[in-house]
Amino acid sequence: MKSKYLIIGAGVHGLSTAWNLCKKLKKKNQLKDNSVIVLEKSKVASGAGSISCGIARNNYFQPSMRELMTHSINVWNENAEQLTFHKVGYMQINSQLMVENMSQVYEQQKNIGFESTFVTGAKDCDKYMKNLFDDWQAQGIESVLHEKKSGYGHNRGAILGLAELAKKEGAKILEGIEVLEINNGSGSKAAQNVKTTKGVFEFENLIVAVGPWVEKFWKLMGYNDYINVNGSKQRMWSYNMLEEGELEYDPKLHTTNNQKESPILHVDTEATLVSKHTGNTIHENEIWGIYYKPDVYRKCIQGGSSPREIKTEPHKIELEPYGHDSKKYKTSSEFYDKWTSALSFCQKRFEGKHKNYRKRSNGGVGCLTPDKFPVFDVFNENIYLVADSNHGWKMVGVGELVADELLGKKSSILEPFRFSRYEKGKLHPRSKSPFPWS
Ligand SMILES: Cc1cc2nc3c(=O)[nH]c(=O)nc-3n(C[C@H](O)[C@H](O)[C@H](O)COP(=O)(O)OP(=O)(O)OC[C@H]3O[C@@H](n4cnc5c(N)ncnc54)[C@H](O)[C@@H]3O)c2cc1C
Repeated sequence: MKSKYLIIGAGVHGLSTAWNLCKKLKKKNQLKDNSVIVLEKSKVASGAGSISCGIARNNYFQPSMRELMTHSINVWNENAEQLTFHKVGYMQINSQLMVENMSQVYEQQKNIGFESTFVTGAKDCDKYMKNLFDDWQAQGIESVLHEKKSGYGHNRGAILGLAELAKKEGAKILEGIEVLEINNGSGSKAAQNVKTTKGVFEFENLIVAVGPWVEKFWKLMGYNDYINVNGSKQRMWSYNMLEEGELEYDPKLHTTNNQKESPILHVDTEATLVSKHTGNTIHENEIWGIYYKPDVYRKCIQGGSSPREIKTEPHKIELEPYGHDSKKYKTSSEFYDKWTSALSFCQKRFEGKHKNYRKRSNGGVGCLTPDKFPVFDVFNENIYLVADSNHGWKMVGVGELVADELLGKKSSILEPFRFSRYEKGKLHPRSKSPFPWS
């Protein structure tokens, strides 16, 4: 079979690229039967997106990430129904250590027209939080950034929604076909076909959007484990374990004072955190962070804390079975106590609820780049790599920008995410957050 655009991976990025390619080709009267084909080794929504927390926010310390996310948050809002999006808002709540970083975020959000409110000072923050939640009790909060257009969606539901949108526009999605090899044409650097478990597929352009499986594809594309990052040799890929969990709690009861669905709350602080379970100190004189939200799809309060670095060499990471079925990569046993204690640290409604924690497999692994930010770029002349560094479920708009680039229109929003930034040392700035991607 031959296609103009062959996409590997039916997650957020593969499907939103397929959807947008079809729409744009149709507009140009160039959409044919096999123009856009998506190959998926398993079923639609079986990668990282299917176990994602489902949070879409703009709050990033890196200006280029905020521009990218402003575009994506618009896509979420414009397609809220198909993508299961709940515009509940997102709140970044901080101790003194992060106030300066957050005020920069707020200033740029204002400049790029992204709606948010910023409050500083312990007294005003406490008042702002208590106006929303009369049981708010976190101490030591010095800034609150409240994004109004952000929110959450159903992890799998949004991807299934994208698959419907892509199919409706004319994309073919073929499930149960695993790509095994990428082959070049003779005497050419460009890729010509892929060998799969169901035969050979030819294409003019290949789009690789394989989430955590990117390390394997990097090799199939002929690249090395180590790259030059600003003069030093560094691993291209590393893996993190995302620590997440669920609390049995009716999400419809997790509301604001005026009975609205609660915004997503993210707290980064160096306040002392004491276990409500054992009385032991969990964190003292160090920054820690958690996030939580009502989740009407999982019928609980769902959230997480900062991820764990996996030390195993990347090529030895066992990705199958992926996600909650993984025998090897699970949320750590310490997470339960930390997260439930932190929920009570924030809101009285969660006091005594630690026993309601759902003790089952949760979280999952993700693959990160050297600076922990995405790479969107063309390799080997005709392979477009969409590698979101494992925080890109929210980046639902990337597919539209990638489709533009594939059709010859360069995107200034994607420009800061080229691979050459590593060699040039043009890395994205790091914030003081305990999360690698904030
Ligand atoms: C526990 C957890 C929580 C997260 N929470 C959030 C969050 O709240 N917000 C956020 O923005 N991001 C979050 N992320 C990150 C986010 O889920 C990923 O960055 C994003 O889903 C990646 O999308 P993708 O389309 O690139 O990959 P995936 O969703 O992983 O899809 C890739 C697809 O490629 C297929 N594939 C792989 N290899 C092959 C092959 N050889 N042949 C054919 N098909 C193949 C896979 O089966 C898979 O279906 C979270 C991640 C995890 C693990």
